Amino acid sequence: MAAEADGPEFVVDFPTLWVTCDWIEAHCPVPDGFHAGETMELYPWQLWCTVNHYRVKPTATLGQLAPAFYYRRSQVVAPQKTGKGPWSATVTLAKAAGPVVFAGWATGGERFRCRDYGCSCGWWYAYRSGEPMARPWPTPLIQLTASSEDQVANVFRPVPSSSVPRPATSRTSSPDEQPQRPLPWPSRPGQGTFRHAHVRP
Ligand SMILES: [Zn+2]
Repeated sequence: MAAEADGPEFVVDFPTLWVTCDWIEAHCPVPDGFHAGETMELYPWQLWCTVNHYRVKPTATLGQLAPAFYYRRSQVVAPQKTGKGPWSATVTLAKAAGPVVFAGWATGGERFRCRDYGCSCGWWYAYRSGEPMARPWPTPLIQLTASSEDQVANVFRPVPSSSVPRPATSRTSSPDEQPQRPLPWPSRPGQGTFRHAHVRP
């Protein structure tokens, strides 16, 4: 379970896709440094941005795509080396293979199960009653844009084909490449079939 976005400035008093936050932490290992490959926990500001990005309107109804969400876009402005690139990479991976499409409201007892969407990792998430549910995009469109390829690489570098189990592996790896076990993000830089931008909705 993702840590609550705590602190007086981080009060989450609105419905949001906690399942997406937990999916990210379960599927995106620490990309580099001494803890590369270990389970990642989003920084408070990263979690705060994630829960706002996936804030759901209380009036959302099943079948709505962009209109189900409170915001249409997110912009993060922060100094260098604060984790903008890795956070963007986690959101990119969630868009590619994680539960990000509103799928109705839980009434109690529902679960998101990776295996239902082709991921063999065994992870699952139990919704609480009244919580918004989500499912992956069937055909995600991933586009990364920037003013230079180096800037795109800041985000794409942590998104190699092997960063998450089956779903992102099968969707981001080259067609002739066999799925690999999860490895630390920077271990196979530059691989993947998506390398451009995505702004959705
Ligand atoms: Zn999984």
